[in-house]
Amino acid sequence: MHEMALVKQLYSIALNHAAQNKAERILAIHLNIGEIRDFEAEWIERYFRYVSKGSIAEGARIRVRSIPAVAECEACGAVFRFDARGSGDIVCPVCARMDRLSLLSGREYSITGIEIC
Ligand SMILES: [Zn+2]
Repeated sequence: MHEMALVKQLYSIALNHAAQNKAERILAIHLNIGEIRDFEAEWIERYFRYVSKGSIAEGARIRVRSIPAVAECEACGAVFRFDARGSGDIVCPVCARMDRLSLLSGREYSITGIEIC
């Protein structure tokens, strides 16, 4: 249920943005969300519909771009994508180490655009 907190925050940011620009409606909100965050786009949309009912954001589309989880192995330099939702340990596919990995992407959460009119 952690999507609900995110949606409330998203909603207030969108409303502020609309007010600052004297917008009449919020048409769409674009998000970048890393795979590791484990947010379900479907739930974000569903909660947003609920939260925004009766406001100028009602009916806004939520467009989620999923950012893949990518790690780099500092031991051998390999850069690889991994399954952020898998339950197993993350292991370098080249040298099989798991102690020198650093995360390059996958933890993102950002609003990349708010469409208003
Ligand atoms: Zn490696």
